[in-house]
Amino acid sequence: MSADAPTSASTGDAVLRVRDLRTRFFTEEGQVNAVEGVSFDVRDGEVFGIVGESGSGKSVTALSLIDLIESPGRITSGEVWYRKPALADEFRDSTPAAVDGDFVDLRRLPEGVRRSLRGPSFSMIFQDPMSSFNPSITVGTQIAEAVEVQRRARANPRRTRSRTQGYGLGQYVRDTLLPSRDYVSDGSRAEAVELLERVGIPDPAERAEEYPHQFSGGMLQRAMVAQALAGEPDVLIADEPTTALDVTIQAQILNLLRELQRDQGMSVVMITHDLGVIARMCDRVGVMYAGELVERGTLGDVFERPVHPYTQGLLGSIPDLENPAPRLDPIEGNVPSLLDSEMGDRCYFADRCPKAMDDCLHRIDERAVAHGGGDGDGDGDDGVGEHAVRCVLADREYDPAAALDDGHFEDDDTAETEAEVAADD
Ligand code: SF4
Repeated sequence: MSADAPTSASTGDAVLRVRDLRTRFFTEEGQVNAVEGVSFDVRDGEVFGIVGESGSGKSVTALSLIDLIESPGRITSGEVWYRKPALADEFRDSTPAAVDGDFVDLRRLPEGVRRSLRGPSFSMIFQDPMSSFNPSITVGTQIAEAVEVQRRARANPRRTRSRTQGYGLGQYVRDTLLPSRDYVSDGSRAEAVELLERVGIPDPAERAEEYPHQFSGGMLQRAMVAQALAGEPDVLIADEPTTALDVTIQAQILNLLRELQRDQGMSVVMITHDLGVIARMCDRVGVMYAGELVERGTLGDVFERPVHPYTQGLLGSIPDLENPAPRLDPIEGNVPSLLDSEMGDRCYFADRCPKAMDDCLHRIDERAVAHGGGDGDGDGDDGVGEHAVRCVLADREYDPAAALDDGHFEDDDTAETEAEVAADD
């Protein structure tokens, strides 16, 4: 595995190990570095949260995990190790570089194999269920189709790895000659109704016959969760699953996800911009900024003992209902452009950071936080190196005397502009 693996000491129970992942978009304006050397683990049965502002790269990270990046985007480097002993055994001899113990590197597996893992290994729920369901097919049928695909995959895994997923010429001829043949079996339809019941849809058999527009937003989000559970995935990726919902419905969906995650022992990757969702749902969390994971650790590490000034700023901008401040303390400035030509070679947060120093004017690797993570209360969450940040303050106190002068970066920008004008002349 790559040298810049996270510093976590307890990765033995990881189901997913992401190492130095980079995803680029090649646009007319230039190369956009959406994900920039991201590394983290997702462990068995935990909820790992990724939090950040819009444009920080968190959704692209999630899509990169399951190989759903579309042109002009591309994963340019990195590793995504998934623990699946049967798959590791299958490729151990033919593709040894793709296997490490019980883990396989998804990026080194054939495309058909990666595709066949969507559903039984990885599933995803999105922000807007209305645009994820087909409006002209009943909700029950759409869930039943997902169940049917997984049933067929279990019965004949090789077929699901083919590009046509077994829907070849023979199947086409059979379906043309016998148009009433139903792709979805009665068993899958019954299972779809059970899934709707499991996610709390009342009268599931009747609701299964309805179309998406007949569902409320909350009910449709539940239906999408049901569809995602059809393959009994090891890892569920939830991308802003409650953003489009009312607050009360949000709480219901989050409770539902937590309940299902505990019942099924699934791991969940929760993508959100909402720190409240993270606090409520997650065991561990990573904070993203400008395509990088700038701080990661247990919920206690990140919320109680944040080290990165960006994390501190995010937490400082939340209203505290118990001790209301007269004014909130927002993070000054804007999220930087992710265009490669504009990203510079300093800490990406430097020109917004109130603690920026000379030492910050070069790229910063991830470092373990000196306190070693955890809260020292002996409850088992004190793993050494669990808490890590991309910041020079990981292992030293901030010294205000070392701070850069106010306006340092304005001077810098002015100098750059003058240099550009001179070059143009
Ligand atoms: S490395 Fe420096 S500029 Fe970057 S976040 Fe840390 S203190 Fe701020």
